[in-house]
Amino acid sequence: MFKPLIRSSLPLVKAVGSKTSRRQLKLLLSTPAVCRTATAATSFSVGKNILWSRSYSTEAAEAAASNTVDNKDEQEVITGTEEVHEFKTETKRLLDIVANSLYSEKEIFVRELISNAADALEKLRQVQNVQSDINTGKPLEIRIEVNKEKNQFIIQDFGIGMTLDELNENLGTIASSGSKKFLEKMNDSNDDSSTKDNIIGQFGVGFYSTFMVGSKIKVYTKSAIPGSKGYCWTTDGQGSYTVAEADHVSVGTKIVIELRDDCKSYASQLEVDSIIKKYSNFVGFPIYLNEQKVNTVDALWTKDRNSITPEQHKEFYRFIANAWDDPQFTLHFKTDSPISISSILYVPERHMEVLGEPIKPGVSLYSRKVLIQPNSAGILPPYLRFIKGVVDSEDIPLNVSRELLQDNILSRLRQVMASKALKWLDTEAKKDPKKYNEFFMEFGQFLKEGACTDAMHKREISKLLRFESSKTKASSTEDMISLDDYVNRRKNKDQKRIYYLLTPKRRYAEESPYTEIFTKKDIEVLYLYETVDEFVVNHLKTFQDYDFVAVDSPEAASDPLLVKASSEQQNDDLSDIDANDLALWIQNSLGPSVVKGVNVSRRLSSFPAVVLEHESPAMKKMMEMMQGSARMDTMPPSPTRLEINPDHPVMKGINKLRQDNPDLAKMVAEQIYDNALCAAGVLDDPRSMITRLNKLLEITVNQAAEQDKKVKV
Ligand code: ADP
Ligand code: MG
Repeated sequence: MFKPLIRSSLPLVKAVGSKTSRRQLKLLLSTPAVCRTATAATSFSVGKNILWSRSYSTEAAEAAASNTVDNKDEQEVITGTEEVHEFKTETKRLLDIVANSLYSEKEIFVRELISNAADALEKLRQVQNVQSDINTGKPLEIRIEVNKEKNQFIIQDFGIGMTLDELNENLGTIASSGSKKFLEKMNDSNDDSSTKDNIIGQFGVGFYSTFMVGSKIKVYTKSAIPGSKGYCWTTDGQGSYTVAEADHVSVGTKIVIELRDDCKSYASQLEVDSIIKKYSNFVGFPIYLNEQKVNTVDALWTKDRNSITPEQHKEFYRFIANAWDDPQFTLHFKTDSPISISSILYVPERHMEVLGEPIKPGVSLYSRKVLIQPNSAGILPPYLRFIKGVVDSEDIPLNVSRELLQDNILSRLRQVMASKALKWLDTEAKKDPKKYNEFFMEFGQFLKEGACTDAMHKREISKLLRFESSKTKASSTEDMISLDDYVNRRKNKDQKRIYYLLTPKRRYAEESPYTEIFTKKDIEVLYLYETVDEFVVNHLKTFQDYDFVAVDSPEAASDPLLVKASSEQQNDDLSDIDANDLALWIQNSLGPSVVKGVNVSRRLSSFPAVVLEHESPAMKKMMEMMQGSARMDTMPPSPTRLEINPDHPVMKGINKLRQDNPDLAKMVAEQIYDNALCAAGVLDDPRSMITRLNKLLEITVNQAAEQDKKVKV
């Protein structure tokens, strides 16, 4: 009969605390026969019923009767004698829970058996260190045989093995972990060898995962302690087991599983090979499956950083990322605080997200070289999903089925990992700016996503962004600049803003009325080509103490650094009074549904006007996508502000024309307005202005012909 480990109920009993009862309990626990009888004579199942006998005081009874809870103090007084009762367990049911409800995947049994075999080998190694006379004459390796005909799964190790007592204690007792005890003993002896970090087992339930797949399980084992006998332990997983002495048993442990009919796939070499590779590839001992070595790639992260060759990194990267390219950046680090981590991270050469599907997170979580979570979404923030790698941490809290427990250690791990990754990219950028810029061309979109979503690391991410600008060459990765570059190389130290222009093409930016004055004043303008860029600058708002300001915004229009010098004024320029008059006239002509107001500005040169306070082209595109462009058409465009350049010949012309031919002057003003919308990239549909343009052309052509005639006459 299997024994459940009822010692774990001791703390509960201690909390109740009568001396007699504790002694009684100890007595009970030290008598295996009593334990077994108690278990066999079960009358109810685990945790359901607790037979605490208590007497309640009358106050408590009254409180209960009046349906209120008096939570000021605990007023209840125990008057009777306390009796201690143990939780009783229905072993068969407990086994059933452990075997069938603990793990979400049946294949986990492979991981558990390999982990146990690796622990047994590790323990042997440790014992051999202390006792040199223990020599099994066998290699420290794990062998697995699967056989479809026999429908068997066999695993053998030449590790420490088990004595009869250990068999009963470890396999005959649910939730008793020999490995945990081994570790505790080592901790007591203050041994600082690496064994401590390598022992995987701790919960004492992993072995029972074999019950998910096996109809019969046989364990042959012989302890490595000289003079030990061999044993055969068998069970059908139904609540009892047998043990018998056996001959011809090798030192170590061999487990033979007769697979259930619905688990035949675990007799397939192909299937088992992929399960081993998935969970246990990095276990520290060779694993052979039907005589072929499975784990050919080492757990690089456990090795000394300086001893690893680029070739090894390449092989490791390709294995974990399931990729064929080479890593372009590699980060290998270990930390001890705030949490112990060993990790290797890689940036691939390319990513496949361009094909549409978002890529899966690329970092897997390991604990003591055993996979806990493949492609874990919890380690790096989603925008760093392009990074591939492994993280191994002994500190992460696991539940009994070795899955992750959600708690604050995990969020600390996330914190550390995100900061490390961002710092790493920054270091790479400083090391080789050209290479980094090339990386940015491929992966920049992820960092921009981060700038919009990760408020906590905004600063670090903003340092990683790269831009084209009015002072860089077109599409030159070498030339792209960072925000630090922008700030550091500004000519006028009074400039407290980072100017940018959202533009679909570089050529539009260079021909834009908005950038003209910036070129004149030698102020650099960042060119932002993608829709997401607008969200990036809106989220960042500032870099260091510099505000992001769009060159086509009203803030830019009012920057004193951008005013035209008075030396540039000409004699026939309109006076301020005349200019304001003209502005008012244009405002009235266009009407309030078109413009909120018309301002005079002297920063423009070759353009008669620009619009301000217009919606951004990216925003407009988004709205169209959300609402459908047909519906957008039915909504009138919201009025903008017009900024006119009174010194432009067209404006001077309108000023004269508005007295003599107000209709024509109005038509020209309307056209100038549409041109300004067009330059800002927010004109709804240029087709709407064709009729007016044709009319204006007609007038121009006629006038020219008229003049021609006069000249000839
Ligand atoms: P855990 O590994 O968490 O301790 P398991 O249920 O997997 O729990 O195993 C229970 C115990 O059985 C182990 O701690 C170990 O003492 C013993 N054991 C299991 N497999 C082997 C093995 N292959 N060789 C030696 N001892 C083993
Ligand atoms: Mg185990």
